[in-house]
Amino acid sequence: MIRLDAVRKTFKTGETEINALDGVSLHVERGEFVAIMGQSGSGKSTMMNIIGLLDRPDEGAYLLSGQNVAGLSEHARARLRGTAFGFVFQSYSLLPRMSALEQVELPLIYQGVRDRRRRAAEALVRVGLADRIGHRPTQLSGGEQQRVAIARSLVVDPLVVLADEPTGALDTATGHEVMTLLSDLVNQHGMTIILVTHEPEVASFAHRMVRMRDGQIIQDTGASNAANPLNGEAST
Ligand code: ADP
Ligand code: MG
Repeated sequence: MIRLDAVRKTFKTGETEINALDGVSLHVERGEFVAIMGQSGSGKSTMMNIIGLLDRPDEGAYLLSGQNVAGLSEHARARLRGTAFGFVFQSYSLLPRMSALEQVELPLIYQGVRDRRRRAAEALVRVGLADRIGHRPTQLSGGEQQRVAIARSLVVDPLVVLADEPTGALDTATGHEVMTLLSDLVNQHGMTIILVTHEPEVASFAHRMVRMRDGQIIQDTGASNAANPLNGEAST
């Protein structure tokens, strides 16, 4: 479903050039739960940004569901980004004045979807926040705020949830609750998740581990999604 081939990304700041991605190839199928690990600066976020169509490779190919996304216009990329991906960040990225329900409705407003309120409420039920839909971020714990962010990522029915350090701001116990929720999405609902973390315990919830160093993938335990009955269909 996601296929990166020999992707390169260089950042230039003044005189210096940084090879943030130095020939990365990665293939992720539907229903996989992949943890990306590696030290700070190894290229994890750059790879996630390219996968999520937030950034473009300088070289190499990116096929999403068989479609070469390099040829798409900025408008088409933005639309695809909003329908194909759900994003979860360490910082939750919630808006302070909005209720949980309103936060989760936002991506649907951008897409002009009808029936927004019901779909947002359903997403909040899925993450166990049925009794918090009217709460604002300040009225929620860190774990609850991250679950609102996860509901917001799910409400568009994305192909893939991209989670960059989703437990980075949480204590261990709360981080485990959030990871259990993400695991259930994969194991019970067939969701595909790509997660960045530097914590081995967090990565252990995933089924596959990809380790990066200096812009390269130095270890990949490989696709191991055979246990998931929802992975039967062929896709690229
Ligand atoms: P990680 O997420 O693994 O910590 P990143 O993908 O954020 O690593 O960064 C990889 C390298 O690219 C780092 O050296 C970082 O400083 C550099 N980098 C990332 N984004 C930019 C940018 N927008 N401009 C300049 N350098 C960047
Ligand atoms: Mg990062």
